[in-house]
Amino acid sequence: MTTETKPAFSFEFFPPKTEKAAASLMETAQALAAHGPEFMTVTFGAGGSTREGTADNAVKIAEKTGIPTGTHLTHICMTKDEICAYAANLWARGIRHIVALRGDVPKDWKAPDPESGNYYKWTSDFVADLKAMHPFEISVGAYPEKHPDAPSLEADIEALKSKCAAGADRVITQFFFENDLYYRFLEKTAAAGITTPIVPGLLPVYDFNNMLRFARTCQANVPQNLHEKFSGLGDKQEDSLKVAEDLLTGQIQDLLANGVRKFHFYSLNRADLLSRVLDNLGD
Ligand code: FAD
Repeated sequence: MTTETKPAFSFEFFPPKTEKAAASLMETAQALAAHGPEFMTVTFGAGGSTREGTADNAVKIAEKTGIPTGTHLTHICMTKDEICAYAANLWARGIRHIVALRGDVPKDWKAPDPESGNYYKWTSDFVADLKAMHPFEISVGAYPEKHPDAPSLEADIEALKSKCAAGADRVITQFFFENDLYYRFLEKTAAAGITTPIVPGLLPVYDFNNMLRFARTCQANVPQNLHEKFSGLGDKQEDSLKVAEDLLTGQIQDLLANGVRKFHFYSLNRADLLSRVLDNLGD
């Protein structure tokens, strides 16, 4: 591939819960850094459950790998004051990129004082405040198959448009397995006047049944051909990893053939499958 057409990658990690997992995450980050990603990110537990872990790991990964590493930040269940203080601390610690999100609304959660304006209602307002606070690079989420809470894909695209108008620099999608869904989403968002780049979020399938559970929660479709590919493989992990490797390689090759040049990977804190896929592409 020529330099102009060389694809750009980014990798997402979650904060590890044990010391062993933390050591393994640093190895994973270093292995993936060898592929020269544009950036990496660390997720945030909605409500602030991982707030130190998220920031500490992002800082550590950036130090160890030299790759700019951002943090996700969800506004649900945190007051504006809390979240702005947290964001100010991220800036002070050298974090320059935030993936700004609402987070899933916990069952039965209601802002204690909904009329007071102490909580963000819309992620677009959160994006605008972060941008006003510091010149953060801001990514936001999008859902080619519609966010589960949205009444329609059109309404969801309007919500996305507000986040882009508020200053988002990049959109990263929920994972999907059928590229046509993403291509149709690009057409619809372009027709709605969205010009912010929309990067596909791709999920390596390390464990088919875990992925199915996750997809059910996100309401992401798992097409029949995936069920067929992973069925009857027995217990041998290598066989299912090979299927997953071919699947993701094929998905990226199709996206490349359709002009896509940026790819965000939900790494699940592992480098093995992703490294093989990126090697297949001759990154
Ligand atoms: P929002 O843009 O806030 O939209 C949520 C709902 O509100 C949608 O139905 C939308 O249509 C509607 N809406 C938004 N604005 C308006 C408006 N102005 N008017 C009417 N309706 C509106 N979760 C975590 O807890 N931690 C993470 O680290 C994390 N990382 C993620 C990374 C990516 C790339 C993605 C795609 C998702 C991530 N999530 C994470 C999940 C995310 O927090 C949930 O999907 C959450 O329910 C939605 O957050 P959002 O900011 O994407 O949605």
